[in-house]
Amino acid sequence: MDLTARAIEGSRQDFYIANERVAPKSGRYIPSYDPTNAEPWYEVADAGAEDVDTAVQAAKKAFADPAWRRLTQTDRGKLLRRLADLVAEHADELAAIETRDNGKLLKEMHAQLRAAPDSYLYFAGMADKLQGDTVPVNKLDMLNFTLREPIGVVGMISPWNSPLMLLTGTLAPCLAIGNTVVVKPSEHTSASTLALAELIARAGFPAGVFNVVTGNGATAGEALTQHRDVVKIAFTGSTATGRRIAANAASRLVSCQMELGGKSPHVVFGDVDLDRAVNGVVAGVFAAAGQTCIAGSRCFVEAGVYEAFVERLVERTQRIRIGHPTDPETELGPLALAAQLDKVEQYVGYGIADGARLAIGGRRPQREALAKGWYYEPTVLADARNDMRFMRDEIFGPVVGVVPFRDETELMALANDTNYGLAAGIWTRDIDRAMRFARNVDAGTVWINTYRSAAFMSPSGGFKESGYGKRGGFEVMREFSRLKNVVVDYSGATQDPFVIRLR
Ligand code: NAD
Repeated sequence: MDLTARAIEGSRQDFYIANERVAPKSGRYIPSYDPTNAEPWYEVADAGAEDVDTAVQAAKKAFADPAWRRLTQTDRGKLLRRLADLVAEHADELAAIETRDNGKLLKEMHAQLRAAPDSYLYFAGMADKLQGDTVPVNKLDMLNFTLREPIGVVGMISPWNSPLMLLTGTLAPCLAIGNTVVVKPSEHTSASTLALAELIARAGFPAGVFNVVTGNGATAGEALTQHRDVVKIAFTGSTATGRRIAANAASRLVSCQMELGGKSPHVVFGDVDLDRAVNGVVAGVFAAAGQTCIAGSRCFVEAGVYEAFVERLVERTQRIRIGHPTDPETELGPLALAAQLDKVEQYVGYGIADGARLAIGGRRPQREALAKGWYYEPTVLADARNDMRFMRDEIFGPVVGVVPFRDETELMALANDTNYGLAAGIWTRDIDRAMRFARNVDAGTVWINTYRSAAFMSPSGGFKESGYGKRGGFEVMREFSRLKNVVVDYSGATQDPFVIRLR
């Protein structure tokens, strides 16, 4: 199969199950739109419960099949290395597909896809390092040890903002461990995950190890999270959907790894180079048109430099180049969905109605060339308060609220006064202050004098309503494997059968 966007254009994309294209039993397809002109550019199969079951059964069979089950960890690592090479070879094509699907800058998707092979290589290296421990117990003539094992069929549900980068964070470790996977990508951006499935098959992974079912969340997604043979769910998406999925999982007593929304505090103290901090705040909230879970959308600025900071932020925002995402000069592309554009407009309206000052933006760009796409100007709402509705809810768009603060005590109260706990950033030259902030802020990731800097080696994951469980580093290997304790008695003695052996 040709992986290029040109090959996908106008096509009907079927599921990918057991290394084959499979059409939906219902015969239903749903359109996927190009955000730059709001026109459909391909259709994707819409799975019902029967289709999801076919994929889960394929994954279940593959998990039990010696072709995967009895493959050594060294050989699993080799397959992942082959996949890394294939992803590297096709990185530019995958990036172009994602840009066409979600409207994010081509240069951003290139950066994500060119880094993806390193992630597969990292987890390829972990395949043969997942080991248990020997446990020293207070019983002589007994060996007590732990085994780390694969868990079975993992259901993955991904969002539209960075489909492959986010999927890779859980897929690569799951393959390294020896699990099998059924993924349901976002109905808005399924093409790159289907293209990846081709590469996984080409790398030599046995049929059924990786399967893709596409379609709507309320049908395909629900069927996957409710399926009795799915033993764990990795979900990346909104908090509202996460809550629903966690409830489904809880009713079956299976665990989840939840990467949810955010409303992250981004703090600027007066002792820094203000232009550098402005650049950081712009990176935090206007990169990807604000469609990142880690967006630093609540900006707290020390009162003494507040006016100067807002002025420079507005000046830099004015220079942001809005345009087609494939143009290398573009800094801000369209939003991915029409509904997202409506939401952004609505929340900017709430901000103004609540008394925030519209310092810049707050409308769709006026240029004729952008009229058909889902574009929105980067927006600064100054003199905001943390209790305003647009500061409470995740908007997932290019909107930042700026709030002055007097001292650290007030800052910490404001920063932590949120339902979310995904990320936080601080700009200061005072290392003591930075470390106090890092210790006291409720956020899974804290950036000091940088923002939106990610690495697959570091454990990431939110607190509070931003989710639970970790991805990245060795933590994710623990997250998607299970720990078994084995006890061997080599004393040859016969014990009293009616007394538990505690010594
Ligand atoms: P979403 O919750 O609407 O959808 C995410 C996925 O869930 C999609 O594949 C969708 O089809 C599926 N889904 C929807 N309803 C479902 C249901 N009832 N059962 C099962 N699956 C269902 O989120 P989105 O709009 O695609 O993505 C944006 C959200 O994702 C934002 O809230 C953002 O913060 C979050 N996000 C979080 C992270 C992170 O790492 N924490 C990363 C990226 C995005």
